[in-house]
Amino acid sequence: MSLFDKFEALARLRSALGDDKRPSSVATPMDEVNSATSAVIAGRRVVLAGTNNYLGLTFDAECRAAAIKAIESMGTGTTGSRMASGNYAGHRELERALADAFGWPAGIVFSTGYQANLGAISALASAGDTLVIDADSHASIHDACRLSLATTIRFRHNDAENLDRRLARLGEEAKRALVVVESLYSTLGDRAPLREMAEITRRHGAYLMVDEAHSFGLFGARGLGICEELGLLDQVDFIVGTFSKSLGGVGGFCVSRHPELELIRMASRPYIFTASPPPGVIAATRQALRRVLDGQDLRARLWRHVHRLYEALARLGYRTGTEEPGPVAAIVFDQRDAAMALWQGLMDAGVYTNLMIPPATPSGLNIVRISLSAAHSDEDLGHIIAALEKLSLQQPQAPSAAA
Ligand code: PMP
Repeated sequence: MSLFDKFEALARLRSALGDDKRPSSVATPMDEVNSATSAVIAGRRVVLAGTNNYLGLTFDAECRAAAIKAIESMGTGTTGSRMASGNYAGHRELERALADAFGWPAGIVFSTGYQANLGAISALASAGDTLVIDADSHASIHDACRLSLATTIRFRHNDAENLDRRLARLGEEAKRALVVVESLYSTLGDRAPLREMAEITRRHGAYLMVDEAHSFGLFGARGLGICEELGLLDQVDFIVGTFSKSLGGVGGFCVSRHPELELIRMASRPYIFTASPPPGVIAATRQALRRVLDGQDLRARLWRHVHRLYEALARLGYRTGTEEPGPVAAIVFDQRDAAMALWQGLMDAGVYTNLMIPPATPSGLNIVRISLSAAHSDEDLGHIIAALEKLSLQQPQAPSAAA
């Protein structure tokens, strides 16, 4: 027995998903990235339809100029934690801008979105507290529970009644419970019943944290996310988000109506024991945030594309993770081979998407995930839909067989 024996099953799975001769569906190498929506993979130009670049801001001229200027004047990295030499004015200003956007007193920036969940959740809930999380939460939420010394309780995915029962069972302890949900689940593209969940959480006296990783920038008049769109900002205690999707950078944040959020800077290991985000990233993100708050034009473009894609998927008989149109369209299959064939077919047609298979997916589903960007052109959408149309005839889920 060696340390590596346990990886044998994973290695077999990995080699079943592609070899060196064809672009693999896992960790597909991008030789060049030329814009928010176009890249070169295995010598071919493809339309990117599997990124989280929802607003296309990675190539926004002002964001790039802000990053270059910051690198020129402050260097490439901070080489230190926020608690030591890595606490620059730009970090503070971005925190202020994020908190102000929500009209809240507190905001903390973390080095990634993953660390925002890890750092906020594991510090807020500690020994004697309870974390109540959706069973299909992102890995960063599950890992935060592991790092925290709190008791963790899972409720059934998007099941508000189940959440209610779990909190009821806690009795008085519910007042020390933190409920954590995502607003938009990125694997299937489905949304949490946030109105019901906010009401239930409040009724039991617990706290509510919403991860808006995939909805920040896209929903709500100012792009603050689904809580803003539903008018729930006065019923939510903490919002977590990432810079790596609609904001086009890397990093994450937690904002709160509770000024006491500030206290976790002294306690959060994923905040303290890692280097702070570099000046270029912070400057680009500050500019991207301004663009998001004033981004009705980008949101309108994205939503036009979203409706066009969802209409096409329904017409072509593809089974999707949800019928409610959103920036993520998950085409679901029971069989892995069918999902792999669609992924490869789209790749051969010059369309890059994401293949997701168990154990990384809920309910053992095999998924080809398409995500859209405001930076896609109408022609890009036409190309993606034409490829889906051609391939639909070869699918076990062609219109006549659609579930
Ligand atoms: N939360 C959710 C819901 C996510 O989907 C992700 C990224 N996929 C993260 C947090 C982590 O964000 P990042 O990749 O920016 O670290």
